[in-house]
Amino acid sequence: MPAAEARLERERRTVDAMIRLYCRDHHAGGPALCEGCEALRCYADARLTRCVFKAEKPTCAACPVHCYRPDMREQVKVVMRYAGPRMILSNPALAIRHMIDARREVPEIPRRRRRSESEKT
Ligand code: SF4
Ligand SMILES: [Zn+2]
Repeated sequence: MPAAEARLERERRTVDAMIRLYCRDHHAGGPALCEGCEALRCYADARLTRCVFKAEKPTCAACPVHCYRPDMREQVKVVMRYAGPRMILSNPALAIRHMIDARREVPEIPRRRRRSESEKT
């Protein structure tokens, strides 16, 4: 898998793992997420697919664009705050990679994105 795809796929797995951890502990979620967490997972996945940074993507927490709708942004922040510190025990490989990604320099916002207004959907 090319590096760019691998990076986005890792992001996808990280968000998925965090939401699963949160759902398990708060909503008794199992292999299937509760309705709200599944909606959040699908939303995050769609944003990731449309991320203007593509393979240069910073972590969403460090992103200067933040393309999430305000309500979804709040939800994902709650999940991250809970699951972030716990990931080191439940999924150390992804947690460490995420920490490394979080330290990367945030790239400039691509021109295409600067010209257009927010696409928060
Ligand atoms: S918040 Fe930023 S990094 Fe995350 S998907 Fe949206 S544009 Fe990409
Ligand atoms: Zn849930």
